Amino acid sequence: MQVNAVSIHDQIRIKSRKEIDKLREAGRIAANALRVAARSVKPGVSLLELDKLAESYIRKQGATPSFKGYQGFPATLCLSVNDGVVHGIPINYALREGDVISIDCGAKLDGYHGDTCLTVGVGRISDKAKDLIATTQLAMYLGVSCCRVGLRMGDMATTVQNFAEERGYNVVRRYVGHGIGRDLHEDPQVLCAEQAPGTGFRMETGMTITIEPILNMGTHNCKVESDGWTVRTADGQFSAQFEHMVAITKNGPEILSYPDPEFELDDSL
Ligand code: MG
Ligand code: MG
Repeated sequence: MQVNAVSIHDQIRIKSRKEIDKLREAGRIAANALRVAARSVKPGVSLLELDKLAESYIRKQGATPSFKGYQGFPATLCLSVNDGVVHGIPINYALREGDVISIDCGAKLDGYHGDTCLTVGVGRISDKAKDLIATTQLAMYLGVSCCRVGLRMGDMATTVQNFAEERGYNVVRRYVGHGIGRDLHEDPQVLCAEQAPGTGFRMETGMTITIEPILNMGTHNCKVESDGWTVRTADGQFSAQFEHMVAITKNGPEILSYPDPEFELDDSL
């Protein structure tokens, strides 16, 4: 989600346990669909094929793709390859050995949205690319671990940013996480950088948000392609993203976008 797309002054919708259960179901469908696509990633496979696989899985579950038609987005998945940052439109591009692809998937079930993202390599990838992917996944889990009652957004954002920068990466500023529920994008905006400790909203029980840091090998600056959607790094270097949906509970963060065990990828955390 682009920063400032939603007003931070609107009401944050606190969810009941029943609503959190519905979000977990939607999150599970999105997480499974994401892995249906991720498992098919190999040299020669086109982005359109991946999109079709995910859409057909989602519809078979009685759910609908959250992204398709959202502000005119034409597909089920956002697929961002190499210097692709976010919102990549699936096109007839055949994946190549050494590519890195972020797969972002949303599914709506029984009125609630699921939204989750991961990044995988295509065939054999460079050690640098492997490190980018692993570090981004760890940054995401570190952010999730900061989703605790009483902490503020800025505490989480600073933790994630420091972790990424100590390892030589830059966190994208312009695209951020969000609240999630009956709407795909609800308040608040969830930054993973450039928010001072002790500032931002205070986390409360029943908030449901996405933690979705994007790490770039080079500059955090981005540019938007002429299709109006596809975002790339300004310097052409690689980018990676991971996203989980999280409910903040009195017992700590609860991840709402786990796949069923049979959909797990071999090397996932
Ligand atoms: Mg997403
Ligand atoms: Mg999201």
